[in-house]
Amino acid sequence: MIVVLKPNTNGEEITRIEYMLKQNGVDTHVVEQDNGTIIGCTGDLSKIDSKSFEMNPVVDYVASVPEPYKLANRAFHPEDSIIDVSGVKVGGNHLAMIAGPCSIESYEQVMEIAKNVKAAGANMLRGGAFKPRTSPYSFQGLGLDGLEILCAVREETGLPIVTELMSTEHLDIFNEKVDLIQIGARNMQNFELLKQLGDVDRPILLKRGLNATYEEWIMSAEYIMAAGNKNVILCERGIRTFETYTRNTLDLQSIPVIKKNTHLPVIIDPSHAGGKWWLVEPMAKAAVVAGADGLIIEVHNNPECALCDGPQSLKPKKYDQLLNQIKQLAPIVGRTI
Ligand code: PEP
Ligand code: MN
Repeated sequence: MIVVLKPNTNGEEITRIEYMLKQNGVDTHVVEQDNGTIIGCTGDLSKIDSKSFEMNPVVDYVASVPEPYKLANRAFHPEDSIIDVSGVKVGGNHLAMIAGPCSIESYEQVMEIAKNVKAAGANMLRGGAFKPRTSPYSFQGLGLDGLEILCAVREETGLPIVTELMSTEHLDIFNEKVDLIQIGARNMQNFELLKQLGDVDRPILLKRGLNATYEEWIMSAEYIMAAGNKNVILCERGIRTFETYTRNTLDLQSIPVIKKNTHLPVIIDPSHAGGKWWLVEPMAKAAVVAGADGLIIEVHNNPECALCDGPQSLKPKKYDQLLNQIKQLAPIVGRTI
């Protein structure tokens, strides 16, 4: 349920309405926006008589929010959320351009890629230290040593770092060192992990599960938000379909659907979607034109020898060419990098 207050309602009146709602046992979430204040309500609403609230002179109207997700719901927060990742804004008219290798392999490898993608226009660096691999015999990532490499490259380049957290065991160190904490597709419904992210100060990049519906994906964001962390960015990375030619099927429709139903930024990962490097450019361009708030793209200096996901990785030169095109497309859809 939302209680929409009349424009220019002052702070004292807002507090009074909030108090009355709380007296009835609901949790309140005050969102102040340019065109007025909304008090979002969650929890047990059974004692609320919306008609009597509507009689209050500062209340414009009361509306129910039928969707199971509340804090992520556009009704709770009509304006787009803009998430700050260590100074880089994501959402609104800002585009997040995240690039880097699938896995951190060495300092030299990450450093070379980081310099290249930064020169091309990337504003964040990705790289996996802990890798969720299908086979236990595949490269599992360098772990905390990899994280140290990523931090050292941030020091050199100034690029905020994005890396995947797989276990609550590393929550504190990620909270200390990682600018944007990625939750991978395979952990999208790891509810214990999601709940713990509520205590983290860092923004979260929540990837869509391989077979998650929109509602399930948004509910996972809701878990993080309900636990206390409102800074969630969603990432579509392809879903499982009957098609086997591509690794997954990129669901571009998710962009307008997420934007219609939530206020959270949504970025696209064309690398894991198609699984082929030559699909990255057309899908990345389509995503920006369709309204994505950014792109996360795998770039490798030597994809043939990459320890993970070489076939879907762009070489730095191709990434540079792609960003040149994105820079031309962005203003057409009201965006800047
Ligand atoms: C990744 O970004 O490295 C990754 C493993 O992605 P996903 O969780 O989308 O498969
Ligand atoms: Mn990968």
